Amino acid sequence: MTTWIALGFFAAVALALNLFWRKREQGRTETGRQNLEELREMGDIVPASIHPVIDPIRCIGSGACVYACPEKSVLTVVNGRGVLTSPLGCIGHGACSSACPVQAISLVFGTAKRGLELPQLDPDFQTKQPGVYIVGELGGMGLIRNAVSQGRQAADHIVAGDRRAAGESLDALVVGAGPAGTSATLRLMEAGLRVLLLEREAFGGTITHYPRAKVVMTGFLDFPMYGRVSKRKMSKEQLVALWEDIREKTGLQVAVGELVEKIERGQDGSWLVSSTGGVFKTANVLLALGRRGSPRKLDVPGEEQSKVVYRVIEPEVFQDQHVLVVGGGNAAVESAFALIDGGKCASVAISYRKNNFARCRQPNRKRIEAEMEAGRLTALMGTQVEEIFEDRVTLRDAAGEQLSRQNDAVVIQVGGTAPTGLLQDIGIEIVTKYGEA
Ligand SMILES: Cc1cc2nc3c(=O)[nH]c(=O)nc-3n(C[C@H](O)[C@H](O)[C@H](O)COP(=O)(O)OP(=O)(O)OC[C@H]3O[C@@H](n4cnc5c(N)ncnc54)[C@H](O)[C@@H]3O)c2cc1C
Ligand code: SF4
Repeated sequence: MTTWIALGFFAAVALALNLFWRKREQGRTETGRQNLEELREMGDIVPASIHPVIDPIRCIGSGACVYACPEKSVLTVVNGRGVLTSPLGCIGHGACSSACPVQAISLVFGTAKRGLELPQLDPDFQTKQPGVYIVGELGGMGLIRNAVSQGRQAADHIVAGDRRAAGESLDALVVGAGPAGTSATLRLMEAGLRVLLLEREAFGGTITHYPRAKVVMTGFLDFPMYGRVSKRKMSKEQLVALWEDIREKTGLQVAVGELVEKIERGQDGSWLVSSTGGVFKTANVLLALGRRGSPRKLDVPGEEQSKVVYRVIEPEVFQDQHVLVVGGGNAAVESAFALIDGGKCASVAISYRKNNFARCRQPNRKRIEAEMEAGRLTALMGTQVEEIFEDRVTLRDAAGEQLSRQNDAVVIQVGGTAPTGLLQDIGIEIVTKYGEA
C-alpha cells in the first residue's frame, strides 16, 4: 500500500513538473513568435558583431543554443527550430554555436541584405598601413575578453617590432580607453615604451554605458601589469570599479575628453594624430575605437549650446528641467524612461519624425503607452526639431504647423556615424561582409 502511495506521489510530481515545463516552453515560444513579428516590422537588423545564423534544415530544435546563450532571450525555439529573435541583444559570445549538437549554427558578420563594414587586418591586427593597428570590437569581434586579448597581442607586436619614435615623439598612441585600448596601453607601458592613451568620453569605454546592475559575462581577463581577473561574471558596477583599480594599481594615465579627428602620415613615415587637445607625432597608432561611432547630429541652429547632449548618463542632472528627447529608437526611448525614473524632471517629451515607435522593442512600446497614459511622457509624433533656443525649442509637424515648447535640455539620440570614415581617410581597406564569416 505504502509503495503505491509513494509511486502515485512521484507520478503526480513528475506530471506537475512536466506541465510546468511545457507551460514555460509555450510561453517562451509565444514570446519568440511575437518578437519575430516585431522583427519583420522593424526591417533588417544587423547585430554589431559576430552572430549566429541557424540552418533550419539541420536544426533539430534541441534548444541547447537557447540555454547556452548567456544573454537571455536572444534565441528562442519557435515551431521546433532555433531562431535569433533578438538580434540586437546578441553580443557575439558564440556559446550557441559550440552548444549545438548538430552543428546547425554558423557565426557570421552582417546579414544578406545589410552588410557590416570591417577593416582588413593581418594576424597581428596591423592594417596595410605600417604601424597602424586595429583592435577590439572595431575589428569585428565583440566581447571584453577578446578586446583585452587583442589589445595585448597587437601591443606585443609593436614591442617586438622596430618602429620607434625619434626625438620627442611617441612610440605608440592608443585611441579609445575601452577593454582593448586599456590592455594595449598596459602592455606598452610594461615594455617601457613612450605611450599616450586618448579617450573622448569615459575611461572603460562601452562598459561605462551598460544599464545599471547589468550582469556581465567576462570570462578570465589577463591584463598586463595587473594580472589575471578570475571572476567570470560581475555586475556593471564591479566592472567599472575593476577599471578604476587597474588605473590606481598600474599608474595608467588616460587623457579623457580628447576626440581624435584626423590621422595623417608624416613625411618620415611616422603618424600625426590630431585630437581636440592637439597634434601628436607617433611611430605607431593603435585604434581601439569600438563600433558605437559618433552620435549623429541634427544640424539645426542652436545645437551647439551646452544644454544639448547626446546621451543620458546621470538622469539626476536634469532635475526640475523641461527635457526634450529626440529620436524614436530603443536608445532614445530608454533615455526618456531613465529621465522619468530618476530625473525628477519638470517634464519629459519625446520628438520623433515618424508616426509610431515601430523600431522599438515591444516592452519599450508598451511602456511608452503606459507613460503617456500616466501623463509622465509627451510624445510629439511626426515632428522635427527646427531650432533650439536658450529657453525653448521649435518643432515642425507633418502638416507644416510650428510648435514651440518650453525647454531646458535636449537629448539627441538619432543614431551614430560609423568610425570607418576615420579609417578610410588614412587608406585602411574596408570589406563589407554580407552574412559571411
Ligand atoms: C549593452 C551591452 C552589453 C554587453 N555585454 C557584454 C557582456 O556581458 N560580456 C562581454 O564580454 N561583452 C559585452 N558587451 C560587448 C563589450 O562591451 C564590447 O565588446 C567591448 O566593450 C569592446 O571593447 P573595445 O575596447 O573594442 O571598445 P569600446 O569598449 O567600445 O571602447 C571604445 C572606446 O573608444 C572611444 N573612442 C571612439 N572613437 C574615438 C575617437 N575618435 N577619439 C577618442 N576616443 C574614441 C570610445 O569613447 C570608447 O570609450 C556588451 C555590449 C553592450 C552594448
Ligand atoms: S553569439 Fe552569443 S550572444 Fe549571440 S546568440 Fe550566440 S551565445 Fe547568444
